[in-house]
Amino acid sequence: MESKAVSAELTKVLLTEEQILIRLKELALQVESDYEQKDLLLVGVLKGAVVLMADFIRCLTRHADTDWMAVSSYGSGTKSSGVVRINKDLDQDVIGRDVLIIEDIIDSGLTLNWLVSNLRSRGARSVEVLTLLRKPDAAKVSVTVKYVGFDIPNDFVVGYGLDFAEKYRNLRDVAVLAPHMYS
Ligand code: IMP
Ligand code: MG
Repeated sequence: MESKAVSAELTKVLLTEEQILIRLKELALQVESDYEQKDLLLVGVLKGAVVLMADFIRCLTRHADTDWMAVSSYGSGTKSSGVVRINKDLDQDVIGRDVLIIEDIIDSGLTLNWLVSNLRSRGARSVEVLTLLRKPDAAKVSVTVKYVGFDIPNDFVVGYGLDFAEKYRNLRDVAVLAPHMYS
């Protein structure tokens, strides 16, 4: 879906699909050089990272295994608490492997904190994080995020996999959702 098809529902386009793909190619080069000779396992976090994963793996010029996890975080209201339940676990063993978590966006980072320590405790050789987007609050998180696509302001964004009530995941760009859509 193109942004112009739903322009009345968006405040502005933050990142176009073209801009995102250019950045993904840069990140792929970095990942290739950092993971030379390593057993790279990309772990996507469902569902937001689906579009990113699909584009990112095709930017790589080497082999990389992929797997998925689905987690939900319990919280009061809209803030996540960091208490996490696994809804879908990995199909593969991570023991001794170099895991790169693929995330759509890091906001509070509480879920991600949990995920990183969970994968480390299972015996992964290394666990790093690649995120397309990072919001300002993520600065408070203890996890170091090695690969960041874009730092963005504290607005609610949709598209390129990111949803509002399960909609807009199929929007090609990343756009700020107009406040009248959720207030
Ligand atoms: P965190 O645990 O607070 O970092 O929450 C991250 C999750 O919240 C993401 O994986 C998204 O599912 C969701 N999220 C946070 N900010 C946004 C946004 O601006 N748009 C859509 N989803 C968001
Ligand atoms: Mg979501």
